[in-house]
Amino acid sequence: MDNCKIIALTNQKGGVGKTTTAANLGIGLAREGYRVLLVDADPQGSLTISLGIKNPDELMETLATALSAEINDFELPADSGIVHHSEGIDLLPANIELSGIELSLFNAMSREMVMSNVLNRLRDSYDYILIDCMPSLGLMTINALAAADSVLIPSQANFLSTKGMNLLLRSITRVRRQINPKLRIDGILFTMVNSRTNNARSIISAMRTAVGENIRVFSTEIPRSVRAEEATEKGKSIYVYDKNSTVAQAYTELTKEVSNIGREANRSRSDGAR
Ligand code: ADP
Ligand code: MG
Repeated sequence: MDNCKIIALTNQKGGVGKTTTAANLGIGLAREGYRVLLVDADPQGSLTISLGIKNPDELMETLATALSAEINDFELPADSGIVHHSEGIDLLPANIELSGIELSLFNAMSREMVMSNVLNRLRDSYDYILIDCMPSLGLMTINALAAADSVLIPSQANFLSTKGMNLLLRSITRVRRQINPKLRIDGILFTMVNSRTNNARSIISAMRTAVGENIRVFSTEIPRSVRAEEATEKGKSIYVYDKNSTVAQAYTELTKEVSNIGREANRSRSDGAR
């Protein structure tokens, strides 16, 4: 039985907390005992760097080499490029080579399915695979959405972020219709929330109304805090950097919300099988 869930953290806007959430949700899930793989799908390698690998461009094996092997029909071990991290997760890192791979995807056979083929070979080894997407809706992100079981959408609580949400939701709908019918939206996560401002509060409540019953807005909101930024710079998760911070508490809450989604889904699936 396949118990692995692949979640793509996606938003075409940069600086909304995708990478920070991938790291801290991933490590949060590992702290709950789940086997977790984080996949860095951004040529900038921010996730790779934020997990303490200072010079990603020196890495010989990354997501880029795995995708390249798949494109060229060249067999690599399934775990090629994966590194183990001291906080209990595995990482498939990225570096600048990934931007070249995005170009070669265009001429690849089944060009939307390349990442899916690579990650499907790893499903047996993990309970969760989180893909940290780059800030675009290009072919690399389409590959992530094609590989995923669900999408988690980090967003800031400001006017421009909510404007971009429609475009993102439309792209997800298109991927579901044309490539990956099983793709679900786990929910929208508000990050860097300054709870003292009424503006953030009114944007969040407007978004809850706008997306309605169909799309979850996580009840956990990640507060804005300089501790989050400092942890990134130090290459540590928020749990190790400052476990009593509001951000660490929020990511612990988010971890519970996300792992409950999996359980509800599994339960109804096995009910259906009976
Ligand atoms: P993305 O991956 O969407 O581009 P990041 O996760 O890299 O976004 O976050 C962008 C910047 O904001 C980083 O410098 C990060 O350290 C910082 N940051 C992330 N979460 C928070 C937070 N809750 N409070 C303050 N700064 C944050
Ligand atoms: Mg990022």
